[in-house]
Amino acid sequence: MSRTGEIAQSYRRIRNELPDGVTIVAAAKTRSADEIREVIDAGASVIGENYVQEGRDVRRELGEMARTVRWDMIGHLQSNKINDALRHFDLVQTVDRMKVARGINKRVNEEFPVYVQVNIGEESTKYGVMPDEAEELVQEVARMDNLCVKGLMTMEPYFDDPEKARPYFRRMKELYDCLRDRNIPGLDLDVLSMGMTNSFRVAVDEGANMVRIGTAIFGPR
Ligand SMILES: *Cc1c(COP(=O)(O)O)cnc(C)c1O
Repeated sequence: MSRTGEIAQSYRRIRNELPDGVTIVAAAKTRSADEIREVIDAGASVIGENYVQEGRDVRRELGEMARTVRWDMIGHLQSNKINDALRHFDLVQTVDRMKVARGINKRVNEEFPVYVQVNIGEESTKYGVMPDEAEELVQEVARMDNLCVKGLMTMEPYFDDPEKARPYFRRMKELYDCLRDRNIPGLDLDVLSMGMTNSFRVAVDEGANMVRIGTAIFGPR
């Protein structure tokens, strides 16, 4: 535990501030098993990791406790890491191309939940399908036998002033609503994962029902 239970306090403060319908993913890259244990003790139910190996290592260290929460892959997934990722994660939030979707589809035999990652700012430095190609990718992934598209995820462009990110969150919500209205077979979209430490309040304001928070819970990296 951090010396004064700061992680637990931070988590609870954010939990109390957000509506019940908003899921908090504790974004735990570079955090130790002890730090993650503290946030789980404070009530966190979803842990996000960016690297397959790091996820595996902390899960092992946490032992039984790791089984009490859901583990989401929130980092870019290389196709040669899919096998390992499937062994250590319950859900992949970063499906952004058919190659990854196919790789997951052929390795699972039950319906595996994924989110499609959208590069809503169309930034060359970020991963994700371009917004105007998102519908096609979502349709193709939804058609795969063993995949279920449960959500959309984005990493919005970074601004010191989170208000500047608002138009991007709004565009994501429009895309999400549009896909939900379309009644695409195999699509069971009910999660919009967007907003991080600097921006989660604006994201929730614009319709996020999942936020991924690292620094505001665990402190600076
Ligand atoms: C690190 C990370 C976060 C959390 O970022 P903070 O600014 O520390 O809250 C959220 N999503 C992804 C994909 C990340 O890599």
